[in-house]
Amino acid sequence: MAVDLVEGKLFADGKFRDADNVEPVIEAATEKVLGLGASATRADIDDAVAAARRALPDWRSTPAADRAKALFTLADALEALALHTSELCSRETGAPITYSRQANGFLPAVIFRYYAGLIDTFDIEEFRPSLVGHTLVRREPIGVVGAIVPWNVPQLLAAMKLAPALAAGCTVVLKPAPETALDALAIAEAAEEAGLPPGVLNVIPGGRETGAYLVGHRDIDKVAFTGSTDTGRLIGQTCGQLVRPITLELGGKSAAIILDDAQLGPTIQGLRSVSFGNNGQLCYAGTRILAPRSRYGEFVDALTEMADDLVVGNPLDENVDIGPLVSSRQRERVLNYIEIGKAEGARIVTGGGVPADCRRGWYVAPTVFADVPNSARIARDEIFGPVLTVIPYESDREAIDIANDSEFGLAGSVWSSDEARATQLARAVHTGTIGINMYQPDLGAPFGGIKASGFGRELGPEGLAAYQTTKSIFHAAGAAAAR
Ligand code: NAD
Repeated sequence: MAVDLVEGKLFADGKFRDADNVEPVIEAATEKVLGLGASATRADIDDAVAAARRALPDWRSTPAADRAKALFTLADALEALALHTSELCSRETGAPITYSRQANGFLPAVIFRYYAGLIDTFDIEEFRPSLVGHTLVRREPIGVVGAIVPWNVPQLLAAMKLAPALAAGCTVVLKPAPETALDALAIAEAAEEAGLPPGVLNVIPGGRETGAYLVGHRDIDKVAFTGSTDTGRLIGQTCGQLVRPITLELGGKSAAIILDDAQLGPTIQGLRSVSFGNNGQLCYAGTRILAPRSRYGEFVDALTEMADDLVVGNPLDENVDIGPLVSSRQRERVLNYIEIGKAEGARIVTGGGVPADCRRGWYVAPTVFADVPNSARIARDEIFGPVLTVIPYESDREAIDIANDSEFGLAGSVWSSDEARATQLARAVHTGTIGINMYQPDLGAPFGGIKASGFGRELGPEGLAAYQTTKSIFHAAGAAAAR
């Protein structure tokens, strides 16, 4: 497989080509240059968007069954690359390989297959009778999509946009983050192998300027963005001016609500992945742990023990739970929040800095703060690292109020030995998604946030609808047929 050979390249109009601008991609664990990533210029973006525009008429009118076939083939090609791609992602981002292999390796192919299957059987026209006649409601592809993704789970997040967009009949210009400019080209390789027509999928890595230019490009019909709330606000401003449809999948500060009847062992075991998964660099990470006052000490002790048990080290080692953060900038940000937490008077029960034996790589020790009021910055801001805050509460009502007292509303979880009770409580939490005794996005169900976590949904049939627009063709009752 040739991912290494596409170093410094872009993919536009069905061809790989050398980028004029390149930036080093740094390996998170070694701080060494892993390779040179393309950094697309305005001319590159213009080319890619023009190619996507040219490809649109044919792709949108390709029978859905043929688009589905191409996407099934693309899924097979991605799967064949999965071990290599997921290792590359781990080296770029520090994601533990056991996590990356699923999220960046095999899951993207599953998502492509899901949307290929969905479009294959999807009725794009619906007959709706009414008192005045009937309307034919058509779901048409929205057009050329500019898709922008962050570095944290690059292959999965790209697939969550590309699969439904391509299935719907849209063409796409994908802008991956500069930190993950290398693995992104694996998707282009898979597209080439699947025989996608030139221009249907274009991959142009780059940074902030590349992204901003793509968002405001005159020839884009929709922007699909995943990233921070700050960037989402900027993109929202541009798209508001242009009256351009947009999906915003932004940050989070999800509450994990432990009820007083929760079983200690399974709850702590579940929180291992829900709170510390991908080194805490997950938008839906449950980093605000709400523990009942009556069992507060018990849960703080168990969380501390769990955090201490996590193996920190080389992300390519299968036994490692926590790898390095993606960049020195990200580590500075997380360490700065740890200092803020200390200054706010929260009690560090474990972690709180760089592990002594990790002299290279951007590591932060799994950290747990106890006795944190929900008003503290470490309980309010998204830290995006392996740092948990444990907040005490007195009653179920107070737990709901604390969970809802957040700028964000992306995900959450409720832990209890009584599923009905937990589900009832989950209904009252203001969030786009929430789990009972575990959390993870479910591929068949809508995923996305409310409040500052954004709007629009990915995954499930709703994820396909995000790339379709409706057209209503009205027929009056008794009207003469057109001659
Ligand atoms: P970021 O907003 O800095 O960057 C995300 C992407 O946007 C990158 O590709 C970046 O190059 C690009 N970008 C930056 N500035 C831009 C601009 N002005 N115009 C257009 N594009 C621009 O985010 P990050 O720090 O790289 O990623 C982490 C964030 O992503 C966290 O806040 C996390 O919660 C969020 N995230 C959300 C979800 C979700 O589904 N809700 C999933 C994963 C990550």
